Amino acid sequence: MKDIIKIPRAKDCCEYIREELLRTEILRDSFDQKGIVFDLVTRFARKPRFFYTPSEEKIHVYDRHGVQHREFIEAPHFSPWWGGIQLRTYDNQLVQDLYYLHEICHAATMPFGPDAKHSLQDPVTFKNKIRDNEHEASTFSEMTIYCEFPQLRQMSFQHEIFVDRFLFPDGVYSRVDARLIQRWRDEPELVTKEMMYARAAVLTAPHVDESDLAAFWLKRFYSQGKAWTAIWTNPKGEYPSLPVGGRFRQVEAAMIQLRDACSTLGRSEALDQHVEWLLSTDVADGTRIPFFREAKAFCESYLQHKLLYFESLDQRGKRTEVHHK
Ligand SMILES: [Zn+2]
Repeated sequence: MKDIIKIPRAKDCCEYIREELLRTEILRDSFDQKGIVFDLVTRFARKPRFFYTPSEEKIHVYDRHGVQHREFIEAPHFSPWWGGIQLRTYDNQLVQDLYYLHEICHAATMPFGPDAKHSLQDPVTFKNKIRDNEHEASTFSEMTIYCEFPQLRQMSFQHEIFVDRFLFPDGVYSRVDARLIQRWRDEPELVTKEMMYARAAVLTAPHVDESDLAAFWLKRFYSQGKAWTAIWTNPKGEYPSLPVGGRFRQVEAAMIQLRDACSTLGRSEALDQHVEWLLSTDVADGTRIPFFREAKAFCESYLQHKLLYFESLDQRGKRTEVHHK
């Protein structure tokens, strides 16, 4: 983590996101007019948060043609879990905004044990919690945001995404399914769940047709999720650099401590202590990357998956949006 921006106060946090992060007019308006962006951002800001630029450490892997690819170790790290949002730049400003809303949604909707005595210990419940949290964030940033603002779709990805089959059944972005939009207005909670389960059904399907790129991409993310959980719960000690059982309990306990410290010490001091802990030797191994060993193990798996997907897109002469740090 470099250039850490700590924002203890809720009001400052909302302002920072509105003024410094969000670039798309429609999304800023939704904040100003107390729409869904406002709801999400204010929910996120209930806790002290921080923003950061990823550290420089890289790893490299080789693709099947022997070409070397490199990635910042910290790039795919799941820091919203501990309240940190990674700053990134994408060529497409809307895609960048959706990335931020996705990460913000992760943090805003992540529950922790009711109290310090009941912090999450069970690896199966932990796995389910993280899976549900990913569903929630992805359904928001990849599906329901387009139900709320169908006009955003032509400004985001050029390739097909999963929500298109529901919102634009003819494949034309100017022809939205009016019945679905009406239902979204009448019963948004239910439509959100329907979208979530439609997505979940693809993830758990035994096979996905490789020509269905939007579904294929979701499936790829699912296997990444499995690798992530294996690293953090390390059930049989497959990752020798990590303790058997993994270190997820440390994060769970620290987040409850942060919440409690907000009442006892105040939000500013609580946040300082939290960030100090994230960068402590036990957690960061002398680097500036919290949970460095988990970050490195996951980055290797992430990069392999990313290459597979890019290859699949390439074979069809398509491209997706990438971020530059
Ligand atoms: Zn996510």
